[in-house]
Amino acid sequence: MEKLEHDDKGAVLKEKLLVSACLIGVRVRYDGGDSRTESILRLEDRYDLIPLCPEVLGGLPVPRPPAEILLGKAVTEEGRDVTVNFEAGARITLDYCLENGIRKAILKSKSPSCGTGMIYDGSFTRTLTPGDGFTAELLRRHGIEVYSENNFMECV
Ligand code: SF4
Repeated sequence: MEKLEHDDKGAVLKEKLLVSACLIGVRVRYDGGDSRTESILRLEDRYDLIPLCPEVLGGLPVPRPPAEILLGKAVTEEGRDVTVNFEAGARITLDYCLENGIRKAILKSKSPSCGTGMIYDGSFTRTLTPGDGFTAELLRRHGIEVYSENNFMECV
């Protein structure tokens, strides 16, 4: 039988799971909207969902110009280099995971921060190319399992 951990008051401690904030309905997308996904919200029964938005943590506002990754840099369609914000957000997210024992993440697909496997190619034509977003890549490099809203059932 599975051994459950409890807090000081006897409540069962649930495993922490990092989730892209937009996936649980927080309006942090570049366009001021969210990507709420009900099937992820239902995981709350079994997991302590930790919503973070790397781009906001990196100092970018909501709304903000969309950015894509081109030649290793995060750039807006107007050519503004926002790599420093993307890198800061990724680092803050990683530090939070390491400090709080988070080993798994469900991150929004295709995003230049959160995307895993396939991301937009920097042409702003909705064209996908193999690759990871800044945060997904950094988390993976430090041993954190990264899933998306399309394949998270593999991890739960
Ligand atoms: Fe969602 Fe990640 Fe983009 Fe923030 S950076 S809006 S969490 S996909």
